[in-house]
Amino acid sequence: MYKFIQKMKKALLIIVSLIATANFAQDKPKLVVGIVVDQMKMEYLYRFSNDFSENGFKRLMNQGYTFHNTHYNYMPTYTAPGHASVYTGTTPAVHGIVGNEWFNKATGKEMYCTDDETVSTIGDDSDKEGKMSPRNLQSSTITDELKLSTNFKGKVIGMSIKDRGAILPAGHFADWAFWYSKTGAFISSTYYGEKLPDWATQFNAEKNYLKYVNKGWDLLKPKEAYNESLTDNNPYEGKLYKKAPFMPYNLQDMYDANDAGVLRSTPFGNNLLADFAKKAIESENLGKDNITDFLAVSFSSTDYIGHVLGPRSIELQDTYLRLDETIADFLAYLDKTVGKGSYLVFLTADHAGAENVTYLKDNKYKVDNINYKNIQKELKEFSETTFGENLVLDYSNYNVFIDKNKVKSKGLNLQDVKQVFKDYLQKQDYIKRVYTEEEVANANASDYYLNFVSKGYDPTQNGELVMIFKPGYVEYSSTGTTHGSPYSYDTHVPLIFFGWNIQKGATHDRKEITQIAPTITQMLKITMPNSSDGKVLLEVLEK
Ligand code: ZN
Ligand code: ZN
Ligand code: ZN
Repeated sequence: MYKFIQKMKKALLIIVSLIATANFAQDKPKLVVGIVVDQMKMEYLYRFSNDFSENGFKRLMNQGYTFHNTHYNYMPTYTAPGHASVYTGTTPAVHGIVGNEWFNKATGKEMYCTDDETVSTIGDDSDKEGKMSPRNLQSSTITDELKLSTNFKGKVIGMSIKDRGAILPAGHFADWAFWYSKTGAFISSTYYGEKLPDWATQFNAEKNYLKYVNKGWDLLKPKEAYNESLTDNNPYEGKLYKKAPFMPYNLQDMYDANDAGVLRSTPFGNNLLADFAKKAIESENLGKDNITDFLAVSFSSTDYIGHVLGPRSIELQDTYLRLDETIADFLAYLDKTVGKGSYLVFLTADHAGAENVTYLKDNKYKVDNINYKNIQKELKEFSETTFGENLVLDYSNYNVFIDKNKVKSKGLNLQDVKQVFKDYLQKQDYIKRVYTEEEVANANASDYYLNFVSKGYDPTQNGELVMIFKPGYVEYSSTGTTHGSPYSYDTHVPLIFFGWNIQKGATHDRKEITQIAPTITQMLKITMPNSSDGKVLLEVLEK
């Protein structure tokens, strides 16, 4: 009897270990898919929940781990800094991507985050659109560290409608980054290779964008389903390519009057990107072997539509309902090609977005629109009346750049000049705080918003003064919306982990966006991005 039990025990152990190997043989995911949804507010996951399918956002939430309270921890909350911060695990003060474009103190000109004069476009004949690379990004990314740790065997591909949404996540060592050109092609630059891979050339030759242009854009669901939004054609919506803001949109007309770039500002920019992503997975064999690959996908159409039509338009809601279907379809594709549980997904956003200012004003909240050109003009006028000369080089991204050489040549004291501008700005109706560069350098934890400024401030690239507007004051037109502030309407974004090694769960504990990168690298058991402070999300690491 004893022997029998021993035998049974042994058999059981073998069975148990077999099951264990079957389930846990993979100590790493075959593929990581990083999804960034441009301008996605956490609120959308709640507000549109009743209209979502079970297989898209809800599948991620119901089977994955949801962080309900994740925030950006710096300003300005723009696209390029957002993507860079998610993937480097640090903030603009360190990784150097301090805006989408910014005033370059060395040249005295505006520069773009991914500008690179040394490379050229591949994939179409456009000149400027492909002169892009990650060279201005100073920190390493999750994707860079994956490349290094696999001796460059793990494949890394980034893609987006926006160049910066593709290039920054893919990092310095990427196999490819692809972005959408107004010709309707996904293009790249000679930073990555001499010509596009054949499958991408083939995809572009098929002119897949036309199938979406031909279909036009009408509501996905019956009109009653959109009761979470304001009625269509309301005064808070701007015009998409001069078209009055109501459904349906004749995309053929818009395309004929412009170019294939119009697809960006429709939900179908997201569809086309998902089509391209599937093509990349299939052709590059992503997730096929045991060396982890990485696909960074950034859906940008949500941002274009949010800017023009605002967060409470039915166009915006329709875009999210369609993105829900796109994500459901994409997950089903990953199940089939990589295998359920073999891939890891994380989904977040590069920033959130404000309410439309006019809408708040109409509902008696005293806030206002601000035109940055007016700020620039008023600063120059103030300078001329005060100092007899314009000492302001530029105002952009909440930064004032003072002409230090002129200050010196006039025999003025720079500290005094800064203080005079600060006092002037502090009196403006839209201002909450103004900080000098010295105050930013000496930031301490007790000034909550100064910390947002300091984490977004790179002394070699930012201005001599940085301002924060009052809550609800938005530097944008009276229709639509934007983002950029340190306030929660701009910082509160979704964060969901799903798939390989992720157990269902949720927390409302406050988290910061910079925790994503070190968490992913711990999961992959690879080096952290070089500027990460190592603060991880224990909830998805410890079981
Ligand atoms: Zn963005
Ligand atoms: Zn509308
Ligand atoms: Zn935006």
